[in-house]
Amino acid sequence: MDKLAIVVPCYNEEEVLKIASQALREVLDDLAGKRKIAEDSFILFVNDGSRDRTWELIEEEHREHPVQVCGVKLAGNVGHQFALTAGLITAMDMCDVTISIDADLQDDVTVIEEMIDKYHNGSDIVYGVRRERKTDTFFKRTTAQGFYKLMGLMGVKTVYNHADFRLMSRRAVEQFSKYQETNLFLRGMMPLLGYQTDMVYYDRKERVAGESKYPLKKMLALAFNGISSFSVKPISLILGLGMFIIIVSALALIYALISYFTGHVVPGWTSLILSIWFLGGLQLLAIGLVGQYIGKIYIEVKHRPRYNIEKVLAGEES
Ligand code: UDP
Ligand code: MG
Repeated sequence: MDKLAIVVPCYNEEEVLKIASQALREVLDDLAGKRKIAEDSFILFVNDGSRDRTWELIEEEHREHPVQVCGVKLAGNVGHQFALTAGLITAMDMCDVTISIDADLQDDVTVIEEMIDKYHNGSDIVYGVRRERKTDTFFKRTTAQGFYKLMGLMGVKTVYNHADFRLMSRRAVEQFSKYQETNLFLRGMMPLLGYQTDMVYYDRKERVAGESKYPLKKMLALAFNGISSFSVKPISLILGLGMFIIIVSALALIYALISYFTGHVVPGWTSLILSIWFLGGLQLLAIGLVGQYIGKIYIEVKHRPRYNIEKVLAGEES
């Protein structure tokens, strides 16, 4: 029987912690009863440097349910992506399969069973995908969708409408832990692992209590980080722009010369206008070129594994 760990990052979640713990324990009991997961499956709360009573509540839950509730306390607030990574890597050696979910229960816990079924059918990663965005404000919906589109344009593979509600097998987490980069964007990394994936669909609900820990500022930071950690396209765009302006400067040359010879320009205008166009283009071109090298250095220093082996067939050992 496979042992499941549900990893839950928590930042100032005192209002929802007990409710989340209760709901997730019910899921564990239910699945263990159906013999789909091991009896000693557990929830791992990761306290991301909360300033409220979140950690005390996690300790309390652990005292009451020593097997089912575990906790990790991070030394300070490192943000959702890192807190989740810390939880996954801690859980990795203690279980066979992990599921990550937010503390606020916006993601539907009833599809966890379906995720486990898909895992038993051979998927290493199962994405929770939101069917619709009915409960979101118009603003959040359009910005989020714009974000996925932009990511696609920049060449970053992401799963549309998937946040971080996801099942990962132990070997997927192990492989993920080899990605040593500090600029983390988990959603973009999972497709890189290359394992068999599947999806389950659900409707996202309102937060059960408390308020969003992802204000606009953090959302924008996440979006920018997602693009800049996975793509050096913006640099190529600068290079392209530089080339374009150099071409325009040739047209400007022709225009300026015609104006000069037809005679109605003030002295100095021709050389000035040409310098502006040409030097501007040259500078952008140079910056773009330097950027290409920096982009390569950036990709190299990430030290990402170059391939992930899925299976090896070899002679049996005697
Ligand atoms: N979170 C975290 N560290 C942070 C911010 C958020 O661990 O610095 C956790 C938070 O406790 C929640 C999850 O990340 O479990 C998602 O946050 P939230 O629900 O506030 O985001 P939203 O659903 O509004 O995008
Ligand atoms: Mg939320």
